[in-house]
Formats: sequence, structure tokens, C-alpha cells
Amino acid sequence: MRIEEFRDMIYACGRCNFCRGIDFNERCPEIFTQTWESSTARGRMAIARGILEGKLDYSEEMAERIFGCFMCGRCREECKKAAQIDVIDITKAMRADFIEQGVKIPEGGSKMADTAISSGNIFADTPEIHTKWAEGLEFVEGSGTLFYPGCLASHRFKEKTNILVQVLQAAGYELDFLGHDQTCCGTPLWVTGKIKNAKRWAQDYLQKLQDRGVKEIITPCPSCFRAFDEEYPVLLGLDKFPIRVRHTSEILEEIVEQKKLKFKISINKRVTYHDPCEIGRYKGIYEPARKVFAALPGIEFIEMSRNKADAFCCGGGGAVKLMYEDYSNAVAKERIQDFIQTGADVLITICPACEMNLTHGTYAADIEARVLDVAELMAVAAGIVDPEILETDYFPED
Ligand code: SF4
Ligand code: SF4
Repeated sequence: MRIEEFRDMIYACGRCNFCRGIDFNERCPEIFTQTWESSTARGRMAIARGILEGKLDYSEEMAERIFGCFMCGRCREECKKAAQIDVIDITKAMRADFIEQGVKIPEGGSKMADTAISSGNIFADTPEIHTKWAEGLEFVEGSGTLFYPGCLASHRFKEKTNILVQVLQAAGYELDFLGHDQTCCGTPLWVTGKIKNAKRWAQDYLQKLQDRGVKEIITPCPSCFRAFDEEYPVLLGLDKFPIRVRHTSEILEEIVEQKKLKFKISINKRVTYHDPCEIGRYKGIYEPARKVFAALPGIEFIEMSRNKADAFCCGGGGAVKLMYEDYSNAVAKERIQDFIQTGADVLITICPACEMNLTHGTYAADIEARVLDVAELMAVAAGIVDPEILETDYFPED
């Protein structure tokens, strides 16, 4: 069993409760939605201990406790003050044990992984539909700097992705794009425990990138960013991924710091910012978006009460959206309350999954508000797109 590797950590849990917090609404979105003690990090450590001691077996009845975790990392952050248990790695190992022991996993998770394998992306898009966002843009084949949007940005946010590339190109980045050869990064495989498939996927992808002469990958998706930067080296047994990988938050910060664009148009909005878990807590990237806000004219920036390492999840992590959609929407609705409390006009983030889930959160909370990407603000301020995209009555065609 894969959890054997984490035996010491599992036994180190002293049930201090830091991970759960005092109030169910406060920290962990899993207990917020599911309310069982077993739906917490410390509950999962108790389950893992029971399995290691032969008192419990992996079972379909247990699946919601393991696959209902949003993998947001809030508990891992709290546990740094306690036993330093890597709850995320243990949860991933438990999901992989499900697969290896042949125990059924939630249908939405297995369908997502199977679709990624069979069609190359999680939406079963044809290559033509999956690249529609790039219409009107020109790329530089073989430039060595690959723009890699990932499945969600390609399928769900065609206009946002097109605008992001316009910003990068206006700032002078020569971008290559895989076009019809782009497939999913493989995250759906390891997030649902399909480690053998994930290894093959990572091997093939690295080969494809090296054959094309890619030296750097720029991606707006925190999951794709971590896939290449963190998961591939583990899957492939490498110390480090041989290609530089940067999330767009770092590039947008670079554009501002190196004055690669002039910002002449005033935004005239009060904005707040949702820190995506996978670049925030996972990678410690908190400041780039805030630096961009400070550099754009006409922005009043207001922090949410739960921000940076304490940010509450958007509900879109851990593939929970596909397995338990009601939980995912409830978490998004709760996060939208933090937005409402700020009194801001616009909710900004920098992750396609957060943008989608928080938008669904505005529907669940029955409010009209735009959820935008940092790049969209920059595009307006630089005069690349019309300011109408900031307004609540604006609906992109995608
Ligand atoms: S914070 Fe860590 S040690 Fe404390 S209860 Fe949670 S998992 Fe256990
Ligand atoms: S990763 Fe997030 S959802 Fe999962 S147990 Fe930890 S705090 Fe809860």
C-alpha cells in the first residue's frame, strides 16, 4: 500500500485540531460541506492508521471521505505549526491505493480521467474546438517559449485566454503553441489515483516537448503549472523538470516590473483578490497579482478577510467539482460571502478553475458580479481590450 511510505507522518498526528479549526466554516472546505469528523485531515489520518493496522479496509463507502477532499492545502499549512504532516501527499496515496486495490472510485473522477486518456482533454473536445480560443492570434513555432493553456482555459475561457495571449504578445513574448497537438497535462490521472497511466503520460509529454525544442512553459493554470514543475519530476524519478515552468502570475509581475507595457486607461473599480490554492499555499506565490493591482491606474484594492495562506478554497480543487458538485458549489458560495463583505465591485483571481467555480458561486449566492483574471485588468489598462469586459452586464460569447 502506498500509505506505508507515510507511516511516520500518519502516526505523528496528535489530533491537535489545528487543521479543522474551531468553526466548521473557517478552514477546511471538506468538513464545511460534509460535517463528519472523518472529513478532516485529522479524521483522514485516523482512517489511514486504521488501514495500516488492519482494522479498516478501503471500501466504496469510504470513498467520499478520501475523494471529497478539495486538496486545498489549508490543513497542511496549519499542520506546519503542529506535526508537519503532508496531508495532500497522504490523500493522493490513499486515492492511488483505491485504484490499485480495485475499489470503485466516484464516477465523475473516473470519467474525467478516462476522457483525458481517450480524447486528449477532459471535455472530449475535438482539436478544432479545443483551439478555437486562439483564432486571430499568431504564434512563433519553435520560439522555445510554449504557451500552454491547459484544458479548462482552452474549453471554458476562450475569450480570457485569447486576451491573456494578446497581453503577453503586446509585452514582447514570442510564444509557441502546440495547436492540435496540445493534450491535457495529466493532472486528472494522479488526482484520481491512476499513477501508472500518469507515469506513461508524463514520459510521452516530456518527449513531445523536448522534440519541439521547448525551453520554457508559460501557463495560466496552476494545476498545469504544478503538473510540469512538481508532479512530472516525481513521476519520472527526476530531481527537477528539465524545462523551466512559469505561471502567468510571474510573467504579469515581470511585465509590470520591467515596464513592458504602458497602462494609460483608468480601471475605476474596487477590486479584491482570491488566492488560488495551487499557486498560493502550494507555491508561496502571493505577491505578483497584488503588485499588478498597485501598478494599474484607478484600482482600489481591498483584501478579503481570509487571504494568502489563510484563503478559503474556491471549491474547485481535488476534482471534487466533478465528483460531488453540490459540495463544490457550496464552498464557492461561502467564498463569495468573503467577496461580498469586502464591498468590492469585481472579484479577481488567476486560475481558470477558480474563475469558473467562483462564477458558479455568484449564481449560487444570487448576486451579479464579474469574476476576472488579472490579465483582463491589464488588457483594459493597456488599451488592448474595451473596458466593457469589466461590467456585470457583459457576457463573453464563450
Ligand atoms: S494539524 Fe496535523 S497534527 Fe494537528 S490534528 Fe491536524 S493533521 Fe493532526
Ligand atoms: S486539503 Fe483542504 S479540503 Fe482537504 S482536508 Fe485539508 S483543508 Fe480540508
